[in-house]
Amino acid sequence: EYDNKSYKDLLNSLKVPMEELVEYSILISKAQSIWADAKVNNDYKKFEPILGEIIKFNKRYVKYLETDELKGYNVLLDMYEEGMTKEKYDKFFSLLKSEIVPLVHKINKLEKSSNLLKDKLFDINKQKEFAEYIMDVMCFDKSRGLIKESEHPFTSGYGTSDVRITTHYYEDLLISSIFSCIHELGHATYEQQCNPKLDDTLVGGGASMAMHESQSRFYENVVGRSYEFWERHYPKLQEIFNEELKDVSLEDFYKHVNNVECSLIRTEADELTYPLHIMVRYEIEKLIIESDVDVCDLPSIWNNLYKEYLGIDVPSDKEGILQDVHWAGGSFGYFPTYALGSAYGAQMLDAMKKDLDFEKVIGKENLKEINEWLKEKVHTFGATKNPDELMNIATGKSFDATYYVEYLKNKFSKLYNL
Ligand code: ZN
Repeated sequence: EYDNKSYKDLLNSLKVPMEELVEYSILISKAQSIWADAKVNNDYKKFEPILGEIIKFNKRYVKYLETDELKGYNVLLDMYEEGMTKEKYDKFFSLLKSEIVPLVHKINKLEKSSNLLKDKLFDINKQKEFAEYIMDVMCFDKSRGLIKESEHPFTSGYGTSDVRITTHYYEDLLISSIFSCIHELGHATYEQQCNPKLDDTLVGGGASMAMHESQSRFYENVVGRSYEFWERHYPKLQEIFNEELKDVSLEDFYKHVNNVECSLIRTEADELTYPLHIMVRYEIEKLIIESDVDVCDLPSIWNNLYKEYLGIDVPSDKEGILQDVHWAGGSFGYFPTYALGSAYGAQMLDAMKKDLDFEKVIGKENLKEINEWLKEKVHTFGATKNPDELMNIATGKSFDATYYVEYLKNKFSKLYNL
């Protein structure tokens, strides 16, 4: 996650009557605790009325903000990712639907591999030792930032000279600790590599939500879940956990960190199924903003889409529609940027491969060459370019979802011998 207060939000809020905005912020602050309560008690009915209110406001909000170019859901989509529209996202998601959903269903039918780290505990101090090692691999400049712990990991930047990351360690979840650390370090690398001249200006920091997410996910998934990366760094992890990992081979570890599982919870989803979780939310947001769908029907719509895309039954709303805080916070149009981030990254990978011997570079002692490439093509510009301009600088063309779909198909067909 990355927190970013946008100047555009401020401009937008000026178009809405003050009393409505005040009323809405009171509504949103109430909604947080109602949602939390409803989630704990698995009681959607409790959340339903206030969700209805939030939706009503957002529909009015869209009306206030509509322009000749931007109507309906597009108003919200553009707010979170400048230049992105329903038409572009529809194209993106329909490609995922036709190419990735069948692949996921195929993998889902295969015999499940056993969880080879199950029941193992990993000392937290040792995990921190490995995190320190990873910071060096990623060339994180400790003199211009720091890493601490928090319940929900995040990164925040106050210019290039003060980048703060948090992470969380669990004794029984070594893998999620490692990858959440790499993810946040990805955000941090972006922040640290912006042109320092942009510090303390409105165009410092990342270009957009999706662009920021593209960098964190590039490091986490494209680099961090590659075979070459672990070929180099697994011996270190094995050295630190010499007892716990002594019987776990590099090949098994690599397969383990890329295990595909159709699961219920978005934040725990693997690289391949993740965008399908987003697609469910995108479809529902379209209905919410652009139709008169009844709030009481949303859980069953949710459950049906999970069945269709991920092939699973949702046993409770707690593990279904109530799992994310976003809608309780009034965020509609935010979710799609998560999937878009991964897709931006795949297109950058294709361009990077033309300049670098990628497989060789990610297997080196550190990621300096990757960092340099991204710095020159993306990071240094901060927010002086919009996402589309950045994609053109970095890859020579505008966003094209086929790179992502091809990347996923290649990687996971190979992993599962399909
Ligand atoms: Zn993130």
